[in-house]
Amino acid sequence: MKHIVMYSGGIGSWAAAKRVVQRYGKENVILLFTDTLIEDEDLYRFLDETAAEMGCEFVRIADGRTPWEVFRDVRFIGNSRVAPCSHKLKQEVSRKWIEEHFKPDECVIYLGIDWTEAHRIAAPKKNWLPYRVEFPMAEEPYVTKEEMLAELEAIGIRRPRLYEMGFAHNNCGGFCVRAGQGHFANLLNKMPERFAEHEAKEEEMRQFLGKDVSILKRTVKGEKQTYTLRQLREDIERDQQIDMFDIGGCGCFVNYDTEEATE
Ligand code: SF4
Repeated sequence: MKHIVMYSGGIGSWAAAKRVVQRYGKENVILLFTDTLIEDEDLYRFLDETAAEMGCEFVRIADGRTPWEVFRDVRFIGNSRVAPCSHKLKQEVSRKWIEEHFKPDECVIYLGIDWTEAHRIAAPKKNWLPYRVEFPMAEEPYVTKEEMLAELEAIGIRRPRLYEMGFAHNNCGGFCVRAGQGHFANLLNKMPERFAEHEAKEEEMRQFLGKDVSILKRTVKGEKQTYTLRQLREDIERDQQIDMFDIGGCGCFVNYDTEEATE
């Protein structure tokens, strides 16, 4: 029986992997990393150091496209409700790899969802059937993300730098189409060049589709409107109020789109 941890670079998946290794032994554990090709450079340092410390097999897989390349192919920009990038680059790629290597009774899959996110457990359990999925960090002893980061540092490994920069997750280099205004404001503040690249990509897609579409939305006088990264940046530069509490979150392995990506 192999124990396969979806190893995204997030602190939750690291803490889950530690528990799985402790329970089943490092020789029975695989850390499975699906690369979106726009990951933060420090994520690879974190993956290398933690995989070496745990001593288990580390497998990197990738579709070969970036999220923006997926959006172009499906002619749709991802947003908080529909994110074809997570479907194509994470869920499909990992499913294919697991099906090619293991039958459902030969492995168990583990996700880093913790006890504060228990409401997110049902969807992956259902979507991975007939494979079995478990959530070690949703079990006792309950620990917070900060405690997980402290535990990491206690064994001499630096936390992924995106956490230090105030990001809620360590995926896609601080970018995420599921994230909100507050998250992108942080990206603009901490990594303006990276923000500029995504702003340009969004504009390129708008031109390509010939449509008024955007990752973010805003509500003006009770009406939902598109809100481009360029508009967000300009509002921030003009000191206009934006919704800093709209953080949103990535959940590549826990959010399953219920709507189709249509133009
Ligand atoms: S982290 Fe966000 S942008 Fe990246 S693949 Fe997942 S949903 Fe898409």
